Amino acid sequence: MDLTPDDAARSVAERTRAFVRDTVLAVEREHRGSAHALPEQVRLDLQAAARQAGVFCPHLPPRWGGLGIDRRGQALVFEEAGYSLFGPLALNIAAPDEGNMHLLAAVADPEQQERYLRPLAAGLIRSCFAMTEPAPGAGSDPSALATTARPVPGGWVLNGRKWFTTGADGAAFAIVMARTSGQPGDRGGATMFLVDTDVPGLELVRTIETLDEAMVGGHGELVLQDCFVPADRVLGAVDQGFDNAQVRLAPARLTHCMRWLGLARHAQDIALDRAAGRRAFGSALADLGMIQQMLADSEIEIEASRALILRAAWELDSGGRAAQSTSVAKAFVAEAVWRIVDRSLQICGSLGVSGDLMLGRYLREVRPFRIYDGPSETHRWAISRRAVKRRARERDAAVRGALPA
Ligand SMILES: Cc1cc2nc3c(=O)[nH]c(=O)nc-3n(C[C@H](O)[C@H](O)[C@H](O)COP(=O)(O)OP(=O)(O)OC[C@H]3O[C@@H](n4cnc5c(N)ncnc54)[C@H](O)[C@@H]3O)c2cc1C
Repeated sequence: MDLTPDDAARSVAERTRAFVRDTVLAVEREHRGSAHALPEQVRLDLQAAARQAGVFCPHLPPRWGGLGIDRRGQALVFEEAGYSLFGPLALNIAAPDEGNMHLLAAVADPEQQERYLRPLAAGLIRSCFAMTEPAPGAGSDPSALATTARPVPGGWVLNGRKWFTTGADGAAFAIVMARTSGQPGDRGGATMFLVDTDVPGLELVRTIETLDEAMVGGHGELVLQDCFVPADRVLGAVDQGFDNAQVRLAPARLTHCMRWLGLARHAQDIALDRAAGRRAFGSALADLGMIQQMLADSEIEIEASRALILRAAWELDSGGRAAQSTSVAKAFVAEAVWRIVDRSLQICGSLGVSGDLMLGRYLREVRPFRIYDGPSETHRWAISRRAVKRRARERDAAVRGALPA
């Protein structure tokens, strides 16, 4: 396993580190880390500055205006960008656009790529991804998908309700998952559609109030009512939606880990500075055993998170699906970043919960990550099922004499 990012990626990571500290953090502070209703001009200015700094769009191939960095390199660069809540937005690697760009590059036909991927990669437009539905529809279990797409002359008619569609407010298009065959509960029968957000029959009925605030456009609830989508807006093949979702989901959950690890590192830096400067009971906080334990535990979890991310990134770079390694990384990192930010806040005492630091905001931002991209419990369920199957295969092999028990 070669986990070493190449020199080009290292150099982009170094530039990103400087760019985030010199330019982005001040904008984050000015807006208190809240981007749900960020003025569009702020996004455009940040992205222009990232272009100037040579760090814009690091993840896409050069033909889409990107820097062509592989997944291991992205682990470095995304972590540096994630040091600020606004870093990923500046580099055009924020969710959901980053995952959507990857999906479009992998699955869209050339015409769709010119229409949707080209402007998305350039930061001219934003996008969203609409899979989750209110109960009893798709959630942790995507097979509950209830939104339907009915064939009509020239295309499809979509009906259904979606929610928690990140970035919906202000997005130019949505990638909508709808059922083209079967019933809710069936494991197949889904199709992805590219739906322009200004078409009749698609309405953003509300932006949901949530704990987190750092994702541009917030989390929307959408209603599709007799929404006509032309046949050439099917993304990938009809009935292949669940397979194509895997193309997006495994890398997307890993890039979330990369970005949030950067924020956790920032929280740890704040705690380290405070622990060095603040005195109590005759010594610096940093010299008190229980503070040392918290700082050490966070260091251990930062390094363990990075190692799991790099291992999964290597598998993706090697052409693997990385279903297991991204699941393991996601479950671990989502919980570790929460603990790291929580410890940092504790070390800072009352200052930690105040608006004088950003730690309270950071804590609220990392909490939902234990739910989206698969809740921790869903990943543990999948991981344990794989482990049980693996052990059964090993027992079978032992019975056949092919392996020791
Ligand atoms: C901030 C945020 C942004 C989001 N952005 C998007 C987006 O852009 N597009 C989109 O389509 N969706 C998005 N989502 C939705 C997200 O993907 C879903 O919330 C997630 O898939 C869980 O679905 P659910 O909320 O319906 O929970 P449910 O499916 O109702 O699950 C509830 C709980 O059940 C438990 N559970 C689930 N599976 C198992 C299991 N196998 N064993 C034991 N317990 C289990 C877990 O504790 C889980 O939290 C977002 C969610 C949030 C919070």
